Amino acid sequence: MGCNAPQGIDLHIHSTASDGTLSAGEILSLACKLGLGAISITDHDTTAGAREALAAGIPASLEFLTGIEISAGPPGSVSVDGSLHILGYGLQIDHPQLRRELSRLQQARRQRLPQMLERLRRLGFDLTWEEVRREVGRGQPGRPHLARGLLKKGIVSSMDEAFERFLASGRPAYVEKYRLPADQAIALIRQAGGIAVLAHPYLLRIRDRQRFETLVAGLKDAGLEGIEVFYPEHPPAETSYYSRLAERLGLVKTGGTDFHGSLKPKLQMGSADGAFFVPCSIYDELSSRLAGRSEGS
Ligand code: AMP
Ligand code: ZN
Ligand code: FE
Ligand code: FE
Repeated sequence: MGCNAPQGIDLHIHSTASDGTLSAGEILSLACKLGLGAISITDHDTTAGAREALAAGIPASLEFLTGIEISAGPPGSVSVDGSLHILGYGLQIDHPQLRRELSRLQQARRQRLPQMLERLRRLGFDLTWEEVRREVGRGQPGRPHLARGLLKKGIVSSMDEAFERFLASGRPAYVEKYRLPADQAIALIRQAGGIAVLAHPYLLRIRDRQRFETLVAGLKDAGLEGIEVFYPEHPPAETSYYSRLAERLGLVKTGGTDFHGSLKPKLQMGSADGAFFVPCSIYDELSSRLAGRSEGS
């Protein structure tokens, strides 16, 4: 069938299975309403969102790829201040080893939030576990759920304030989370038949290109197959740089908004602030690489 939509695609979407505010079913409906040609649900450390979408049934007008976004630790020699996230596309969501590793990451997430809550209590803010649990719902516990709790309680007046005052790395309520080393995250995605992609490279906050390319080369040796070139927070010059780098290294280019529903209210599915666009050709290349793989294996 292929993707053939002037509105393009969105390969980076979070559902209520992690920290988005729309369910997988609502995401499918919205994608259709917006006229998108292809989407992937890429929840943090879980494939439950993708599973739910498949169970709901993918509308005929939409192409769908299973997905995940794994929070990874830096591999060996390169230090990373920013977010090192590995996206996986087209994976078998019930692959046993994938399930096993993800349940470890999920357990670590469940343990982390109460520790952050305890820190907030010691700072004098009496947000309760009940209040936070209501925000988490069926999702993967994350800092946005604490932020929403703080916001509803009137302790902060915006999500940004919650992160800047308390929750961001280095702020007083921050607690480190267990991360799968990036090479292992990549291997896991490949074992499950998926394509591993470096998410939002600009958010790694490595501004030195040589250091960045050393990191990417190392990840490629570990099995990385793509770079998320198109991302709303990428400055235009960086987008062209990532695009050239992907071509030079033979990596696929992907793109998406990192849609989270009303958690990031200014960010619309497919189009972000309105000016963002990822063409169908990006989906076609990714899906033909995936198709080639299943024929080969
Ligand atoms: P965690 O999974 O607990 O590490 O939390 C990461 C999530 O927090 C990601 O989905 C980010 O999009 C989100 N996040 C980080 N900074 C902010 C912010 N200033 N406002 C809203 N969400 C944020
Ligand atoms: Zn998120
Ligand atoms: Fe991310
Ligand atoms: Fe994301």
